[in-house]
Amino acid sequence: MQFADKIFNVATQLSHKSIEFLFPSSCPLCNAPVSTHGELCADCWNAFNWIGNPRCSKCGYPFPANLDFDHDALCPNCASGGCALDLIRAACTYDDASRGAVLPFKHAGRIKNANFMSRAMIWALRDTDISPDIVMPVPLAWRRLFHRGYNQAALLAHPIANAFGVPMDVTCVHRIYRPDMGHKNAAQRAENIHGVFSVINPDKICGRKILLVDDVMTTGATFSELRRVLVNAGAKSVYGVVFCRVVRTI
Ligand SMILES: [Zn+2]
Ligand SMILES: [Zn+2]
Repeated sequence: MQFADKIFNVATQLSHKSIEFLFPSSCPLCNAPVSTHGELCADCWNAFNWIGNPRCSKCGYPFPANLDFDHDALCPNCASGGCALDLIRAACTYDDASRGAVLPFKHAGRIKNANFMSRAMIWALRDTDISPDIVMPVPLAWRRLFHRGYNQAALLAHPIANAFGVPMDVTCVHRIYRPDMGHKNAAQRAENIHGVFSVINPDKICGRKILLVDDVMTTGATFSELRRVLVNAGAKSVYGVVFCRVVRTI
């Protein structure tokens, strides 16, 4: 190693140490000290209900841990052909812990949560063999983007696209504004979302495998409607990954 390289390395290590000294890594949720930047502390990590195996091989619905399921077992919804996409994974269930991470991330500008959330989503996809050509955050209507200042799904999609080594697309699908879905039931959500998406660049969609990214999946109505317009435009496969999903008894 050249002398100049050694000096550079020492200087780099010193600057990293002084940055850590000045800005020690802290848990993004509770500010407790952690060893690695962006990681959750053990207490916060343990508060989440991370979804592992056994789970539905298609939609990732968590099965009771004490039962012995085949690796390719399907939940009743997927067994009857009701899955919104070709494959869905969620990092954790929607509950008090995940709500406490998602709501400030979505509505209060707490974008640093994207770091651990996207890493958990990449982890959730680890046992799948999908190979997407495009990673696409669920589009936000311009009016909502204007008020919020960012598309939270895009903040999650960017590191996921990097992990797959493929581009992230935010231009191919347009979404029109419709007032919030609130606490409507599955049928009302499906009706409310119908027709809001349109593919404006079908050449980039045709024949492609697309991985959709969102923060929360409630009924799957948004994914289902996006899949409809993407498949109409010639998409080959449409997968989805979310940080957390509502888990209802099925
Ligand atoms: Zn913490
Ligand atoms: Zn399923």
